[in-house]
Amino acid sequence: MRALVFVEPGRIELQERPDPTPGPGELLLAIEATTLCGTDLRIISGAKTAGVRQGVVMGHEMAGRVAAVGEGVTGYQVGQQATPAIVLSCNHCRVCLLGYEHLCENLRLFGYEIDGGLADYCLVPARAVAQGNVITTRSEVPPTHLALAEPLSCCINALNQYRVHTGDVVAILGAGPIGLLHLQLAKRSGASQVIVSNRSVSRRAPAAAMGAQAVGPDEIGEAVADATGGLGADVVVVCIGDTELATVALDLARPGGRVSYFAGFPKGSTAEVDVNLLHYKELEVTGGSNARRRDVQAAVRLLESGTLDADAIVTHTFGLDQAEDAYQAVRDRLGVKIAVTP
Ligand SMILES: [Zn+2]
Ligand SMILES: [Zn+2]
Repeated sequence: MRALVFVEPGRIELQERPDPTPGPGELLLAIEATTLCGTDLRIISGAKTAGVRQGVVMGHEMAGRVAAVGEGVTGYQVGQQATPAIVLSCNHCRVCLLGYEHLCENLRLFGYEIDGGLADYCLVPARAVAQGNVITTRSEVPPTHLALAEPLSCCINALNQYRVHTGDVVAILGAGPIGLLHLQLAKRSGASQVIVSNRSVSRRAPAAAMGAQAVGPDEIGEAVADATGGLGADVVVVCIGDTELATVALDLARPGGRVSYFAGFPKGSTAEVDVNLLHYKELEVTGGSNARRRDVQAAVRLLESGTLDADAIVTHTFGLDQAEDAYQAVRDRLGVKIAVTP
């Protein structure tokens, strides 16, 4: 099979590898689509090293179909459409026992350490199969949409913490694929108004098409004030890893409001925040990192419903042979999100 391999920092390569055959307990997915993520670029450049194995097959947002099941695997049939929850948790550490499997102390991730989706096939380890990481669809979903189950599941994990109530005004900083997913989730959760900010005018267009008020970073304060009579947003979601936005977000929130630092910030980042904003406004600040299996399941159900505008998010598709070009296109900020299909 073909596989796009992370050889070493600065170097990826399309390689030929033997077709995997599933051993006992394992399951083989034939990959139908993998969407690319900004985190992949940080792996490739060497900026992200934690949990990353040199030689790994890249890609952690994948959709496939069960191609073969190993001995002893029950509950899966060849031909079923499926996507893996990419966090393989240990299920026995203190964090897992607290109910935070996605923050597991021993977690391993597909596309970081376990071979991922930029290949013709992905072999799912026996423990992942046994733990229910492979989520099947109940009705067919376009593969490039199903690949979004991973980023969508991460947004759902954050949404379950920041919560959107009927009538809320939600401000989202950043109109990349993640900002647009939060936008759609906020709308579906009953937000009366969603205001999205982004520096790039071309990135604002899809947000506006999804029903948000899309503004520049300098206009968001006024837009939120206008929408709320000067009170502030019920919810603010930070989708850009810029520490300057840490205080901006606290400023935009209403008294008793909720702020999510969804984006990861560069390693070692510190931000100066006006802590009295937290104190006097009694803000609730949450984060969001990875997703539980249940979040992936919820994401798949949502994608099956067809009510999420996934076409507006996955705007370009490349073949696996052109995967390196596809990553260059991510660097060049082509479209919103890029998919690779075999
Ligand atoms: Zn990702
Ligand atoms: Zn654990």
